[in-house]
Amino acid sequence: MPRPTRYVSRSDLGWGASPAGYANPRSGLVIHYDGSDQGLAGRAHSACLAYWRATRDFHVATNGWVDIGYSYAACPHGYVLEGRGLFRIQAAQPGGNSTYYSCTLCGGPDDPVTDAQINAVRELRQWLMEPDSSISGTVRGHRDFVATSCPGERAYAMVRDGTFARPPGTPPPDSPQPEDFLDMADFTWLSSSRTQPLPNGVPVCLLFQDGRDARVTPDDPYATIAFQNRRFSGTLNGRVVAPGPGGALAPVAYRVQLGKVRGAVGADAPPDPLFAGGVYTTTECNVSLDEITRADERLRIYVTALVDGAEWRGGKVTGWVAPA
Ligand SMILES: [Zn+2]
Ligand SMILES: [Zn+2]
Repeated sequence: MPRPTRYVSRSDLGWGASPAGYANPRSGLVIHYDGSDQGLAGRAHSACLAYWRATRDFHVATNGWVDIGYSYAACPHGYVLEGRGLFRIQAAQPGGNSTYYSCTLCGGPDDPVTDAQINAVRELRQWLMEPDSSISGTVRGHRDFVATSCPGERAYAMVRDGTFARPPGTPPPDSPQPEDFLDMADFTWLSSSRTQPLPNGVPVCLLFQDGRDARVTPDDPYATIAFQNRRFSGTLNGRVVAPGPGGALAPVAYRVQLGKVRGAVGADAPPDPLFAGGVYTTTECNVSLDEITRADERLRIYVTALVDGAEWRGGKVTGWVAPA
């Protein structure tokens, strides 16, 4: 596989060789995102170049780094943008800055990951697997190295299901995108990629500020499921982590409980519990929900840590609503 077909080099950008130190990453490729939405998929590609230049300016002027932090970017139009490029230490994923290459997707949690973008990552990966740089085919996410929301739920699901590790081509979408489902009138999809500290033994209402449902507003981020006189059928997936014996974060058992409250009350409002929650000891819980909300009732999800220092890490609620 030669260099990606749509490639913007440092010289195209008017940048000289990267001043970052030499490295010979061999372990694979790490996917990143921006953390805030950029809307580049709906704009001309020139906006991607402006974004990439602004990112470099920010990393150098504000972060004080010698150069843009990433090795590469893959933009929504299918271009690979050179960052530090080949054989350079990065400021991207602590623990893997000299052993992996990095590629950011130039977008935030609600930006789409386009088919062209997926293909650009695949081309980049295959190029880096050529004898000159000869990385392994492994693709990981930033959160595999340190505690972070990066690269976002959507891209991380693609890391996990192998979407980025397939050969380049003209891909039909390999994994369903949430937008496909949002067109269905009664489907809802809520995600909580934010981290929440969980005091030991105290029920905490999950915040869903990344919610894709318009009814989850900044003024009422706790109203996880606010349908009235409706039946909700779906699932909750999530996990809780806490420092293990060596200090590294590891999944731990926790209690999850469903409750109802009246109106848009605060997170500390005591819920009417629906049933005693189970205690899960796997990495991720999967809880089936099948509940009816009456007028002005809101269904909420409470998690309780069973150890000190625990945090909620990610999760989502998916399902359908129907008349009660
Ligand atoms: Zn990252
Ligand atoms: Zn672009």
